[in-house]
Order: sequence, then C-alpha cells, then structure tokens
Amino acid sequence: MNRFTIALWLAMPLAASAVTVDSPDGRLSLTLDVDGNTPVYSISYDGKTILEPSPLGFKSSIGDFSKGFGIASTKVDTVHRVFAQDKIKKKNIDYKATRLRADFKGPDKHKFSMEWEVADNDVAFRYIIPRQGGKTSIIIDSEATGYRFPAATTAFLTPQSDPMIGWKGTKPSYEEYYVADAPIDSASQYGHGYTFPALFRVGDNGWALLTETGVDGYYCASHLSDFENGVYTIAYPMPGENNGNGTAAPAMALPGTTPWRTITVGADLAPIVETTAPWNVVEPRYILDRPAQTGRGTWSWLLWQDNSINAEDQRKFIDLASELGYENVLIDNWWDNNIGRKGMEELIAYARSKNVNPILWYSSSGYWNDIEQSPVNHMDRPIVRKKEMKWLRDNGVRSIKVDFFGGDKQETMRLYEDILSDAADYGIDVVFHGCTLPRGWERMYPNFVGSEAVLASENLVFEQKFCDLEAFHATLHPFIRNSVAVMEYGGTVLNKRLNRGNDGGTTRRTGDAFQLATSVLFQNPVQNFALAPNNLTDAPAEAIDFMKAVPTTWDETKYIAGYPGRYAVIARKHKGTWYIAGVNAEAKPVKLKLDLSALGLHDAEAECYSDNTALQFSKSILKVKNPAAVPVEIAPNGGLVLVVK
Ligand code: CA
Repeated sequence: MNRFTIALWLAMPLAASAVTVDSPDGRLSLTLDVDGNTPVYSISYDGKTILEPSPLGFKSSIGDFSKGFGIASTKVDTVHRVFAQDKIKKKNIDYKATRLRADFKGPDKHKFSMEWEVADNDVAFRYIIPRQGGKTSIIIDSEATGYRFPAATTAFLTPQSDPMIGWKGTKPSYEEYYVADAPIDSASQYGHGYTFPALFRVGDNGWALLTETGVDGYYCASHLSDFENGVYTIAYPMPGENNGNGTAAPAMALPGTTPWRTITVGADLAPIVETTAPWNVVEPRYILDRPAQTGRGTWSWLLWQDNSINAEDQRKFIDLASELGYENVLIDNWWDNNIGRKGMEELIAYARSKNVNPILWYSSSGYWNDIEQSPVNHMDRPIVRKKEMKWLRDNGVRSIKVDFFGGDKQETMRLYEDILSDAADYGIDVVFHGCTLPRGWERMYPNFVGSEAVLASENLVFEQKFCDLEAFHATLHPFIRNSVAVMEYGGTVLNKRLNRGNDGGTTRRTGDAFQLATSVLFQNPVQNFALAPNNLTDAPAEAIDFMKAVPTTWDETKYIAGYPGRYAVIARKHKGTWYIAGVNAEAKPVKLKLDLSALGLHDAEAECYSDNTALQFSKSILKVKNPAAVPVEIAPNGGLVLVVK
C-alpha cells in the first residue's frame, strides 16, 4: 500500500507540507519536504535512515531555484514497465514503482517540478523545468542536489581527475584507483570530488549506490563534489576539460528535464549487484533493423602493443579468434598508417572469410587532447565521419572502438550521441574507450556495446602496482562500476608475464581460475579478452576450453557473497547454464558456504575451476548436495568458477 499525503495548495507564502511515498513493497520510503526555505528529500529503508534531509534545487540563468520554494501540489500514481535487454546483466526486466510528481512554486512566479520513482530498491528523480516569464531557454549554473548520509557511513569511491593530465592530456577518463570503506569525509585525491557510481555503506542501516542515467547531448555528465558541510553535492565538469573548449554548465530549451539521478538501496548487497536502475527510467532513442552484435574477441594490442599493428600479427589474432570460436577481432590504433587502406581491405576480407568480425579503432579527437595515434579527425566531424562509416559498411565492418574523449561537458556528450546515431545509420556498433561512464546508454542507443571507463587490463602491462592490486579491484567492480553500466575491461590474461614473449615485463599475481572468474564477474556484451596465441599451448587446456565456451550475454545476475574490496561471488545465467564466479583479495583463504538455493539447483554436478593457495589451477567436479550451503574455499589472489548446466 502506498502511504502519502496530498499537500494543499496555499496562498503565498507556502507552508511546508511534507509528502511521503513508499515503494510497492513498502520497505523503501521517500519524503519530500521544505526545510526553512530549501526543498529537501530524505530516504529510509525498513524505517532506518539512508539519507537525512538532503538539499534539492538549482541556480540558473533565470533565477535561483534552490531557496524560497514550497510544494504547491503533488500527485501520486504507479508505473509498470516490462522490457527486454540483451546487453546488460539481465534479460527480462519487470519494473514497478510508485511515482510522485511534485510542483514547486517560489519567488518571482518561478516554478519547477520534480518527478520521483520509488521502486522496491531504487529511487530515481529529475527536475522538470517549464517555460516561464517568457523564457524558453535556461543555463543551469549549479545544482543544490545533494546527498546527506548519516555520520556512521563509509564510502567506496574513485576520484575525478584533474583535466588535461595523463597520457597526451586525455583525462578525465574514469581510470583512477579506488578507496574502500573510507571515512565519509575523505578528501578526494585531486580535489575535484568523485565520479559516478559511488557506493556507501550506511553503517548497519544498509547500502546505497548513487549514479545518474539518461544523460545525452542535452546535459553534461555530473559527478559528486568533495564532501562539504556534511553533504556530497552534484558537481559539473571542470572548465578546463575538453582543452577548455565548451561550457562547463549545461544549457537546455524549455520545457526541459535534467538527467535522472538514481539511488539504489538495500539492507544487504544483493540489490546493489542486481539493480537495473540505470535502464528502468530511460527509453530507446531509435531502433536498429538488426540487433547489436555481441560476443568474444581477441585483441593483439593488449599484450603485443603497437608493434603488433601489422598485417602479419593481425592475421595471427584473426586465426586465434577463429580457433577459439570467437566472433570478433579488435584491430587497434595505427592500422591506417601501418597497414593502409588497401591492406586493411584485404585483412578485413581475410577475417570475414574466417567468420571473424573486425572491430576497428579510431581516435575521437579532435582538439581536446594531443593524441597522435591514428586514425584521427574522423569521428569528430559529421561529413568525414559519415564518409568513413560508408567505407566501413562497404567493406563489411560492423563494429568500431572510439578512444580518447574530452571529458564530461555537454558538448562531449553530444559527440557520443552523434557518433552512435551516425553509426546506427550505417549498421555499425560502437565501443568507447578513454571515456566517461555510460549513463543508461545500453538501452538508449541500441548499437552501443560497451565502454571502458575503468582502470582496465591495459594497466597490468603498464605498471606492477596495478598487477599487485588486481584482486582488490576485481572485488569492487561487481558492486560499483559494473553494476550500473557495462564495462569493456579486456580481461582474462593467461600469460604469467605481461609481454609478447610471456617472459618479461610485469608479473601477474593472480591465478588462472581468478582470470576465468573475471570473464564472468566483469560484464560487457562484447568482451575483447587478453588471450594470446601462445596460450593455446602454454595455458591449461581446461582453461582454454572454458574460454571457448564462456558467453558474454546473460539472462540473470545474482549476488551470492562478498564485500567490496575483500572478496566477491556472483552468479550469472546464460541459456540454462549458471556460472558462479568468485575472487578473493584478502591475505588469507576465504572459506564460504555458498547459498545457491535461489538458482534452482538440485542434485547438480558443477564443473569446478579453482586455484589452490599456491595458485595452481585445477578443474574438478563438485557435487552440490545441499544448495543452501555449498562449501568452497577461495585462495588469496585466487578464483573459483562453478559451471552448472
Ligand atoms: Ca584506457
């Protein structure tokens, strides 16, 4: 049952009349109120506080919409959406929520509305701004929108970087280290706050995962400010992003709506892992006349780097993809320079003759960084872009990877949308790297098939520190980054050493079963794995057989066990087969009795892939006697995968 009060419209000044709505199951509650003269909201779960009264509103070119406003009227109804997805953690989504529409009136006849959807574990909200006082446009200078957690809260966060730093000035690109279980008031590394998504443990009250969705060319991407006066506030891009070009503040035509901000809430971590919040409140922007191509791929550049971008080495990785039964091969930067257009046409034809789809790399740039890797200046201008996409289509290329974007400003969001929209017209799917977090794009843009936006596997090659912390990061992503968006990580390294000869460079600290587990833990509809031709002979045959069979699309995803930063066990189902994958970042083995009763397994036999404490890999058969308590042990830096058909 929904519990709500209808606020009465009162003559100015408006009296604050709180309105509370509950989720369909009654456990999650949202209260909208006015504190002094500031609109505020608060959230509780099972009667326990998740967010204390937190500010709402914004400052704009047509006035201050954060002070002096009262609730003029409210309306409550319900929404029920049923939709299917083939690129995210879950196939069939049945979404029900209580919807609250609240109209605010303030000084100078200014008005705005808010739309809230309160589902069993997810809150989504946005501002709706009407035309007013003859104004049909607005610049939002800043938002008051904030999140005030109780004092006992700890945070799992990754910082927003300085603009124009890193490789050739390509940051921010959501490729930073994390803090886990940090005090709520921790200062961020660069002083620019934290990127979405952000996870909070609200003491013993529960968990909350913050992000935003529905961001397109009509707004900037936002992030969290540094903690100030007890609140994290929505922050906009830094003026220096995009080489200083383009505004940091978003602008829109009126009437207009802001992106949705979402808060996923649970007593435990299951709703955090299983949420579909980013996709529940957005709609497809267009339809394709064919579904996006999902699947596995090989990727020479990861271990063999720039020197491998030549026709001979690329044929080796096409052959490897074919041998593994993979759908794709990713041909990375410099192909136009090193192989040439004519050579590429032959190479593409060779790949297609082996039923392997080439994914071709492009730079997004542009003037927003100093990237030399080519092809450059193809994806940032529509006339050249469309000509290029025609060449791709005419040669049978169905996928591209576009790299090195310029940050989070509105004009960069417009570039993402422009590339996706043109690509859709030419039957091409798109993966982004060196990029922002995708915000609902899996559903909004049907030909969008993945984004990096994470400190990804390339860093295993770049620095030993990342190898040393590989397990730590793997235990975070299912709860944070990869929960709210697909993640193109380039995982599963079976080389012991991270170089071409498997005999030098950085050293992998994790076991082979750990690597297999990440192929399930990390979810993206297109996975370009870090396997190399030598792995056909120097890696365990059972590991290669596993990698031949592992899918990249899922019907279901379930949280089984874990704690972000320590260990993680997640189950995913593909066409009747469950894959239960776990990794351990702790210094000692983690002994668990997995509760798999929700997976419907009875007298099942599981193929069990595991690392022992010496990180020796083995495959065995595990008989599941009691699905509610399946005893397993995961070694430090080790992994476990159970496959139940
Ligand atoms: Ca990258």
